Amino acid sequence: MRERNIIDWIRRQGDFRPEAVPVGPGDDCAIVRCGSERVLITTDQVLDGVHFRLAEHGPAAAGRKAMARNLSDFAAMAARPISATATVALPKGSSDELAKAVYRGLRESADVFRVDLVGGDIAAWDAPLAISVTVIGRPAGVSGRIEPVLRSGARAGDAVCVTGELGGAWRTDRHLTFTPRVGEAVALALKYRLRSMIDISDGLATDLHHICRASGVGAEINAADVPVHADAIEHTDTPADALLAALTDGEDYELLFTLPKRQAKKLCEQDRLPIKVTRIGTIVSGGEVLLVRPDGRREELTPDGWEHKT
Ligand SMILES: [Mg+2]
Repeated sequence: MRERNIIDWIRRQGDFRPEAVPVGPGDDCAIVRCGSERVLITTDQVLDGVHFRLAEHGPAAAGRKAMARNLSDFAAMAARPISATATVALPKGSSDELAKAVYRGLRESADVFRVDLVGGDIAAWDAPLAISVTVIGRPAGVSGRIEPVLRSGARAGDAVCVTGELGGAWRTDRHLTFTPRVGEAVALALKYRLRSMIDISDGLATDLHHICRASGVGAEINAADVPVHADAIEHTDTPADALLAALTDGEDYELLFTLPKRQAKKLCEQDRLPIKVTRIGTIVSGGEVLLVRPDGRREELTPDGWEHKT
């Protein structure tokens, strides 16, 4: 069973009262009501051998990534993270130093955003290092007036934009050293009507499908406009492979968002942002997600790349 199928299954079991849980499983963070406040919550884990390699990257990098992935989910909603807890499953017989290094890594990432690490649990087991982090926070802005941006708000006609450059993150150490786009997301949401947003963890193609599915729309992405990272170019042999890496590698932790076309024009052409933003396509009605070639050829953009349309 794939992760997506399990999440779908869990959503079908849920019986949330909308007034208590405005946003349940399936977005980057859940939103729950706590008295008169809305609280955002997310949780994510990293595993030795899956998300990092302890022998190669070390425990501090693992801790750092565990925290940063969660903070990136707050960026994806343009929300403000506040505090975190962490559980660490240490390989049996590991030194105190290893646990301390994990802690220092968690703190290093959290401190950048003044997120407090307020609790957790440590245990040892006969298996590789596993770190799980939970972060809570609130809507951003003065008195929380910036609405959290969901995956489900994209509309036909919206421009599709991304921050930064994509691809090659796990072929280098970028998947361990990235800074979550929390500040950038809030700055964008303050100024523009962001209709939907997600952070690129699984890859542009897959994460775009998440937005389209949640919003009940499709998208057309211009192949020539996808910003390909130098890491992707350097670690692949052909431009086609570099584009494939940008579309499918994942772990970029950049923002993928949609907004009204006119606003995108202003954002990309006039705004002096501290971060590169590129318009890569358009949201369309229907459910098809297409990659449009410079010569006008259209292919189906799948989570694994592209397929010729028949
Ligand atoms: Mg996410």
